[in-house]
Amino acid sequence: QKNLLEVKNLKTYYPIKGGFMRKTVGYVKAVDDVTFDIKEGETLGLVGESGCGKSTTGRTILRLLDATDGQVILDGKDITKLKGKTLREIRKDFQMVFQDPYASLNPMQMVGDIVAEPIMNYTGKSLKDLKDEVIELLRRVGLPEDAYYKYAHEFSGGQRQRIGIARALALKPKLIIADEPVSALDVSVQSQVLNLLKELQDEFGLTFLFIAHDLSVVKHMSDRIGVMYLGGIVEIADKDSLYAEPLHPYTQALISAIPEPDPRRKKERIVLEGDVPSPANPPSGCPFHPRCPMAMEECSKAKPQLKEVKPGHKVACHLYK
Ligand code: SF4
Ligand code: MG
Repeated sequence: QKNLLEVKNLKTYYPIKGGFMRKTVGYVKAVDDVTFDIKEGETLGLVGESGCGKSTTGRTILRLLDATDGQVILDGKDITKLKGKTLREIRKDFQMVFQDPYASLNPMQMVGDIVAEPIMNYTGKSLKDLKDEVIELLRRVGLPEDAYYKYAHEFSGGQRQRIGIARALALKPKLIIADEPVSALDVSVQSQVLNLLKELQDEFGLTFLFIAHDLSVVKHMSDRIGVMYLGGIVEIADKDSLYAEPLHPYTQALISAIPEPDPRRKKERIVLEGDVPSPANPPSGCPFHPRCPMAMEECSKAKPQLKEVKPGHKVACHLYK
C-alpha cells in the first residue's frame, strides 16, 4: 500500500518578540523535526498533552500554517510551498474536522448552506443544484432530512459535529485531519461520533490523521499511534505493539493512566512529576528528562533520535541502544 501522506523533518517555529524594538529574541519550537507517514486508508493517531504540538502539526500539514522547514508530501506531491491556485486545487483533497463544533460552525447559517459551501466554492454550482447531494450527505452522517433548512444553533453538540463531518466530506477528500473531534462532546455521544467516522472511512476509503490528548480515544480509531512530547514524536508504532509493549517512559506513563475497567488486572499508575516545560525554553538533551523516572546521566546531555528498535516500532530514548 502506498503512502498517502509523508511528513519529513517538519518544523514549525513561532518567533518570540521581545524588548521595545520587538526584535525576534527566540523561537517557540512548536513542531520540531517531526517525521511520519500515513498509508492510504490508514488511521494514524497522534497523542500528547496540550501544547505538545499535535494541533500545530495538523495545521501545518493542511497549510493553515507555514512550515519553517521540512516537507509535506500528499499523494506523491510536495505541497509544502504551493501557493495560490495550485494550493487551492490541492486543498480540496484534505479537510479538517475541528475540536469544537460550537466554534467552527456559524450558528446563524442554514445547515444546507454550511454543507454545500465548500462544493459551491470549488464548482460554482448553486445551492439549488446541490440540494439532493447535500441531503444525501446529511442522511449519511445520521441527520434527519429536514436538518437542511435548520440552523446550526438548533442542534446538540454531537449533531453539530455531524454537520461538521458532512461539510468535511462534501468535496470527497483523500485525507481528513480530525483534531480532537469528540473532546468537546458529552461522553455519551463520543463513541457514536467515533463509530460514524469509522463507518465513513470504510465507505469512502478515507485516510485519517486523528489527533487526541488521551490514549483511550485513539485506541479504537487508530491503526498506528504516534506519541508527541514538546514538539517531537517520542514513539510511533502499530497500535497493538504500542499498547502491549510501550517503550518510551512517557508512553508508559500515559498508558498507565488509562482506567482499567477490570479490577483483577490491576496495574500500577505511573505519576509524572512536574509540568510540561515551555516549548520556548525546552530542557537540554532529552526533552522529557526532568520528568522521566528512568533518567540517566546522559539524558540531560544528548537528545535521543527516533530509531526503529523493532519492525515498525520507533522510539526516541537512550534506554534503547
Ligand atoms: Fe527518560 Fe532518558 Fe529515555 Fe529521555 S532518554 S525518556 S530521560 S530514559
Ligand atoms: Mg490542540
